[in-house]
Amino acid sequence: MPAPAHRRPRPVRCAARPAGRAAGRLQLAHNRRRLSASVFDLVTTTFRYHTIPVTPFAQNCSIVWCDATKQAAVIDPGGDLPRIEAAVQQLGVDLKQIWLTHAHIDHAGGTAELSARLSLPIIGPHPGDQFWIDGIAEQGRMFGFPQVAGFTPTRWLQDGDTVQVGDCVLAVRHCPGHTPGHVVFHSPEAQRAFVGDVLFAGSIGRTDFPGGNHAQLIASIRERLWPMGDDTVFIPGHGPESTFGEERRHNPFVRGG
Ligand SMILES: [Zn+2]
Ligand SMILES: [Zn+2]
Repeated sequence: MPAPAHRRPRPVRCAARPAGRAAGRLQLAHNRRRLSASVFDLVTTTFRYHTIPVTPFAQNCSIVWCDATKQAAVIDPGGDLPRIEAAVQQLGVDLKQIWLTHAHIDHAGGTAELSARLSLPIIGPHPGDQFWIDGIAEQGRMFGFPQVAGFTPTRWLQDGDTVQVGDCVLAVRHCPGHTPGHVVFHSPEAQRAFVGDVLFAGSIGRTDFPGGNHAQLIASIRERLWPMGDDTVFIPGHGPESTFGEERRHNPFVRGG
């Protein structure tokens, strides 16, 4: 499942989708709303991100940063640390924190090494994933990752917490189902959510691992992701970005709810 290689940072202010071809009154009104929304973004948010697929699982590791301060966090450094560090250097940002959505090897495998090398605090996931962290060396052996060390989060996350990088504050939602301690990071201002393996474009996370729960996953998506709004763009753990509105309408696993 190849993930797109986003080669450039993705400024939020460029996120407006192209207008449709219809030129009726409704469409014009819609376009006006979009234009004013993007101007609003321009003056109120300095949030930026850049996504790099890492590990043989093409896991979408994102570097997120505050453009005013250049302070950055890396979400889910599963592996391929030299590529992540090269991207940080190219972007000219100052990496300050590691944020984890959940503790599967492709998301958390590089955490211990990166944290030790750059003295970075480890933020997340929710304590429900402790058993996945305890077993991370075993996960590494099973999936052929080179030696992976365990770690202890500097700060566990709970539903309703916030995380902050520079001037940018993101909300934390606990979204169990794929793993018991899975969290997602949401920027309401930038209308972006980093959802790990909860939801994908056209699919949902697996629930056949220990601690997985299908009904819980569906509830997490409907009760905690959909309220973020149809226009919110989400960055999944694998594969291309999409919007919650698109998935709510067309994703066969969760549409119509
Ligand atoms: Zn996972
Ligand atoms: Zn994954």
